[in-house]
Amino acid sequence: MDLYEYQGKQYFSRFDIPTSAGGVAGTTAEAVVVADAAGYPVVVKAQVKVGGRGKAGGIKLAADAAEVTAAADAILGMDIKGHRVNVVWVEHASDIEKEYYASFTLDRTEKLHLGMLSAEGGVEIEEVAANNPDAIAKIYVNPVDGLDIETARKWVDAANLDDAAREQTAELLVNLYRCYVEGDCDLAEINPLILTPAGNVHALDAKVTLDENASFRHPEWEEFASSEGEDERETMAKAKGLNYIGLSGSVGIIANGAGLAMSTLDVVTQVGGTAANFLDIGGGANADVMAAALEVINADPAVRSIFVNIFGGITRVDEVAKGIIDAIDRVELRSPIVLRLDGTNAEEGRTLLASHLSDRLRAEPTMIEAAKRAVEMAGR
Ligand code: GDP
Ligand code: MN
Repeated sequence: MDLYEYQGKQYFSRFDIPTSAGGVAGTTAEAVVVADAAGYPVVVKAQVKVGGRGKAGGIKLAADAAEVTAAADAILGMDIKGHRVNVVWVEHASDIEKEYYASFTLDRTEKLHLGMLSAEGGVEIEEVAANNPDAIAKIYVNPVDGLDIETARKWVDAANLDDAAREQTAELLVNLYRCYVEGDCDLAEINPLILTPAGNVHALDAKVTLDENASFRHPEWEEFASSEGEDERETMAKAKGLNYIGLSGSVGIIANGAGLAMSTLDVVTQVGGTAANFLDIGGGANADVMAAALEVINADPAVRSIFVNIFGGITRVDEVAKGIIDAIDRVELRSPIVLRLDGTNAEEGRTLLASHLSDRLRAEPTMIEAAKRAVEMAGR
């Protein structure tokens, strides 16, 4: 789950990572109240979960209440890369001497945490990586060892930060690492991390992605989830206990097992289609689960065909077939279904289904043929 900047900054505060004083506002009047409290000048910042807000005009400095009014009027309701701005964050503006970059994420290849630090911040890190890779000081942290202040100091030296920033940055990085590990983040990124002319280091931006697999030990994340404006389809799927992710295409997908579900997305894409969702119904694909899956997909108006891709392992295909027959009796489907059934007891499953096949429920012998058929039907 991605956090808004203001939520990321609240999260940082718990781990003693310094940020500027400010508050959120949903209206221009609220923005002025928050600005008065933060102290002028302020910066008014669009809260959307995409980067590059500055370039898009979603970040404006304001010297007084009149300028805050103008800035908030301009930013609230703005569209930034397809994201509507409903909330702004208003904070006391900082004077900037230098902009740095700092982040922690997981390096899956190295199987270690990866810290990145650069004296060239404020611009997109991908840009720095492409044009001047030597300007990024990387550090791999073994989770068993953690990050101590000595190591952080060496890392800061390697990144060639300004002398005035070094000790504070080393301390901040130890806290950022704590935030990343104890806070169960997939990503904790500060861009820019700034040095002020007065010699203070603090986070001017916050990009935090929480690892939802850890939500069981973070009841406090509930407030983040509720502000999410969650995909309706995902809310419905969650209520039915399904492993579902909404996408923007037209072929609804049901598969058993996450790996097969992902392969199914690939194959649909490969034959020129677009997937409407990822949906893994897991091991025990009985009628209830199948009916729930079909209901969720049926509720998505973008879906034009449904591709059910089952490979029986421990799950027996004849059981799945019974589930499908039962489920299509219960759910009135808007879209035709294409089936690919293979694996344990596939023959028995196909026999059971034979008398139910029609233009609305077709079976294809292979995954690729079924994908082609589903894409063709979605195109009609
Ligand atoms: P992003 O464009 O979405 O990454 O938003 P940021 O929060 O990183 O802000 C973009 C840029 O706006 C920063 O790199 C700064 O140059 C500028 N900016 C943001 N806050 C302040 C501030 O308090 N003072 C000044 N002078 N510039 C700011
Ligand atoms: Mn930024």
